[in-house]
Amino acid sequence: MLKALNKTGLVFFPAFDWAISPTHPEREERLLYTQDQVMEEGLFDIDGIHEYKSEVVDIKDVQRVHFSYPDVWQVMTESHFISAGGAKTIARAVMEKSVNNGFALVRPPGHHAMRVVHGGRGFCNVNNEAIMLEYLRHAYGVDRVAVVDTDCHHGDGTQDIYWHDPDTLYISLHQDGRTMYPGSGFPQELGGPNAAGTTLNIPLPPYTGEEGFLYAINEVVLPVIDEFKPELIINSAGQDNHFTDPLTNMLFTAKGYADLTRLLKPDIVVLEGGYSIEGALPYVNIGIILALAGMDYSHVIEPGYDPDKLKQTDSITQTVKQTCDTVKANWAQREAIGRSMRGNQEYAERRRNIFYDTEGIHETQRETLRLCPECSGALKIDSTSDRGAHLLAIHIPRKACNNCWDLGRQWYESANPSDYDMICLQDRTEDSYQVKEK
Ligand SMILES: [Zn+2]
Ligand SMILES: [Zn+2]
Repeated sequence: MLKALNKTGLVFFPAFDWAISPTHPEREERLLYTQDQVMEEGLFDIDGIHEYKSEVVDIKDVQRVHFSYPDVWQVMTESHFISAGGAKTIARAVMEKSVNNGFALVRPPGHHAMRVVHGGRGFCNVNNEAIMLEYLRHAYGVDRVAVVDTDCHHGDGTQDIYWHDPDTLYISLHQDGRTMYPGSGFPQELGGPNAAGTTLNIPLPPYTGEEGFLYAINEVVLPVIDEFKPELIINSAGQDNHFTDPLTNMLFTAKGYADLTRLLKPDIVVLEGGYSIEGALPYVNIGIILALAGMDYSHVIEPGYDPDKLKQTDSITQTVKQTCDTVKANWAQREAIGRSMRGNQEYAERRRNIFYDTEGIHETQRETLRLCPECSGALKIDSTSDRGAHLLAIHIPRKACNNCWDLGRQWYESANPSDYDMICLQDRTEDSYQVKEK
């Protein structure tokens, strides 16, 4: 019997009854072909690979992360509760040491869902990784964590949720936002003034191949993680960098994904996108599973694989190198960058517009952050949607100092219910979520 070097846990949740539409690329077949391939290759016969059944997250798990308008039930279906639950199941198996690492192969995906949710963005309604991670912080006291997002699209939702959190290192590698949804994720996006440098973006030009991805991992991601010293490494694993993916323009391969996984050594992997349903997903996922288990993946070769055709050009190699140099320089200067962002001010404001492409909702946000030397700062978001909703969302961070705690409470107490459709307080020091009555 084959034996895995590392014990690896898997959860499959294809969400049979959920799709944006029957022909939408984000549909159940994304996982059915992988499931078949896992069976055919006999992965469950390997000693050390365990399958778990997904649990369901509860409301509290979601409310630790999101402000959902008008409420959790309106933005989540049963499938969303189970998809996030699959990530939670794998994370618990890792924390309880039943396995060394694990992969939640679940959908719907989550990395475009931000802290405030008015609807679906980029096929995402709630953020599976963030729900899982904040559960781990609550239940196991996990503190410093690195989230490495290797989906072809910038993980703007995860970036938003951890924008002000210096204990979560968020690194995203993705196709350049000038050529693709959601149009963000540039090297100058470094996190908020209390957490400068713990968000890092590595945009890659279209037609970047294996060489470019692995260069960024070796040159930037691994050294930064080494310095940050996280307790856990989470990989938001989108498989849409594959050369056959219909939504993107990259030249990544199944072997490349497996190499990336072997180098990164993530504790927990959560599936994001990937829309080349037959030609790529089964092979990429098998490669990742074998790499997690510490097994030989050299025989995993997808149809149409030709290393010569998939080689990136010299000009792409140069661009990737320059981008990596910029990101490394920003990381090295993160403290000075943070100081200059804070200046002598007491508060930082940020205004932005967010588009929910699935539902056509436009949201405008005005965010106020207390610039705090002791904690990541009390945060207030005034959010308006073009559907007429006006909400006030107040976040007291997990390790809030007394001043930030008092300020968050005061913002909540003094807000007038007649001015808003919803006023809510997420107090992470008490693990509570309150909505103010009209
Ligand atoms: Zn994607
Ligand atoms: Zn504070």
